[in-house]
Amino acid sequence: MKGGKLIIFSAPSGSGKTTIVRHLLAQPELNLAFSVSATSRPRRGKEKNKEHYYFMSVSEFKNHIKNDDFLEWEEVYRDNFYGTLKSEVERLWAEGKNVIFDIDVVGGLRIKKKFPDQTLAVFVKPPSVDELKIRLKKRSTESEDKINMRIAKASVELATAPQFDKIIKNYDLDVALEEAVDLVASFIAEDKE
Ligand code: 5GP
Repeated sequence: MKGGKLIIFSAPSGSGKTTIVRHLLAQPELNLAFSVSATSRPRRGKEKNKEHYYFMSVSEFKNHIKNDDFLEWEEVYRDNFYGTLKSEVERLWAEGKNVIFDIDVVGGLRIKKKFPDQTLAVFVKPPSVDELKIRLKKRSTESEDKINMRIAKASVELATAPQFDKIIKNYDLDVALEEAVDLVASFIAEDKE
């Protein structure tokens, strides 16, 4: 596999990385396309198959693992598998796009390791774990149990921030959005010099 650039945004759930990724996708000059991950978790709210995720059963997911179809995969929460299909990245590269990922820290760092020069790995840092809790509760898409599971994972994830190329502090969303656009634009421009 060899192709365009890979832009990874990783962060604890509720840090605002999805909002940042959406903002980046809306900037045509960045020529980005979203890598749709595969997952075995149930569909939430208005999520659409093939747009937000390739939704599949645990056994389908395990079959893809067996066939070596994933660039990386992770059991992010129990029986909730998430992974990046090689075919997805190849498809977007074939379209001449730079690929952007909204994935967990372990998966993000794995991709960075596989493609060190082509990849910009960005960690989005929330103001605090307490603030994360408030944001997740406001979103109210998950049960109390699931929220607590995500919070517990957040502390572990925060410790991985120094392994990323860049850290964006999402304390003020407008500032974070601007910083994200600048970072990605200069990374994409690098080999055109
Ligand atoms: P959610 O269930 O909120 O959509 O996602 C849960 C976590 O899984 C998030 O941290 C999200 O970034 C991560 N995730 C989504 N897709 C992938 C993927 O392809 N690989 C990995 N490793 N994590 C992913």
